[in-house]
Amino acid sequence: MDGVSHPYEPPPVSQTLYERAARVTPGGVNSPVRAFGAVGGTPRFMVSGKGPWLTDADGREYVDLICSWGPMILGHAHPAVVEAVREAVGHGTSFGTPSAGEVLLAEEMVARVDPLEQVRLVSSGTEATMSAIRLARGCTGRAKIVKFAGCYHGHVDALLAAAGSGVATFGLPDTPGVTGAQAGDTLVLPYNDLDSVRAAFAAHPGEIACVITEASPGNMGCVPPADGFNAALRDLCHEHGALYVSDEVMTGFRTSKAGWYGVDGVRPDLMTFGKVMGGGFPAAAFGGRADLMAALAPAGPVYQAGTLSGNPVATAAGLAQLRLLDDAAYRTVDAVSAELRGLVGAALTKEGVPHRVQNASNMFSVFFTAEGAGPVRNYDDARAQDAYRYTAFFHAMLEAGVHLPPSAFECWFVSTAHDERAMEHIAAALPAAARAAAEATA
Ligand code: PLP
Repeated sequence: MDGVSHPYEPPPVSQTLYERAARVTPGGVNSPVRAFGAVGGTPRFMVSGKGPWLTDADGREYVDLICSWGPMILGHAHPAVVEAVREAVGHGTSFGTPSAGEVLLAEEMVARVDPLEQVRLVSSGTEATMSAIRLARGCTGRAKIVKFAGCYHGHVDALLAAAGSGVATFGLPDTPGVTGAQAGDTLVLPYNDLDSVRAAFAAHPGEIACVITEASPGNMGCVPPADGFNAALRDLCHEHGALYVSDEVMTGFRTSKAGWYGVDGVRPDLMTFGKVMGGGFPAAAFGGRADLMAALAPAGPVYQAGTLSGNPVATAAGLAQLRLLDDAAYRTVDAVSAELRGLVGAALTKEGVPHRVQNASNMFSVFFTAEGAGPVRNYDDARAQDAYRYTAFFHAMLEAGVHLPPSAFECWFVSTAHDERAMEHIAAALPAAARAAAEATA
């Protein structure tokens, strides 16, 4: 199971669980990026989390820099979130009818994000983007959509073309099972390249329903939009009668109180959310202009539904988390991120490891780019990095009790709970990991 070699022994209980898992679950995991496919070795099976710490089945502790890939912005088992969940569970776990929690969560989201006039709750980010695309096509009567290489919008058939995240990690350019018909209306363009967007609109007049983009991409590593890119995208969409769809599943309620919209102020027609808004439970959403959302069933003809949509436990967790995310909380997360970026950069520089740390507010990643390389602006730039250095760095950090994302193509996530003790633990792990990165060979 060890795809890439490294010098560390696997922890025995995780190893056993992984072998059992692989017998009953493809690849031993329920989401590909959890496997250590890109870095080799045995994924850690976690039994508990508290604040910034995770404890695995062997009793080893790790400072968590994945935070469930974004949702755990208050750290694990935050008392207020746990209490809200406990309270909700006691009242029943699913009704199949409307419930007050759905209204409260939707009101909280709409109050925070100005372009979000109406919102529909779903259970995953994938459902959110899938439904937003359907709505965009339904409202415009057009078939084609534009996405950017390296942007990941979940495992929606039409959007699994040149996607980032696990698809980048596993190098699956075209996924078997997605037919030519399903992906045939998807135009994949290089990120941060407005000329290619202009050319696409010129080549397909009246055919493009929408442009979907990660508000600030985090699934090819952290690659923020160039100044003015999102605004120009929106303008081009509107010039050509298309909708501008901003995927805030990762950035929403993480990069600011109002997500990336709160940072760049570019008003999308439709938006998608997930991760933070669910407080660690399966809750996601899409929404935007009320005139577009009015086309959605039962108000309008575009069908969309879900047995567990707006689940009362998930909405309680999400609402409790959002209510704690005030300006002070974002100042804390931003400060943790800035400190960590500084520590990592300094450790790598000290060992002479060429690298580039890029961030979008508190989201960030470390690219092991060649000496003298410029900023990473798109998927090709991201793929040009020396990912083998990340493998060595990752395993040295893991051995020292710091759990990074098991791929060079992912963002690192921090929380309000990353306190001094956690930061000191990371700081102590960095010198050896930087040395391992320096000594790594392709
Ligand atoms: N969109 C973005 C930007 C994401 O980062 C993700 C997941 O990482 C998704 C959509 C899909 O969300 P989910 O994994 O909840 O289906």
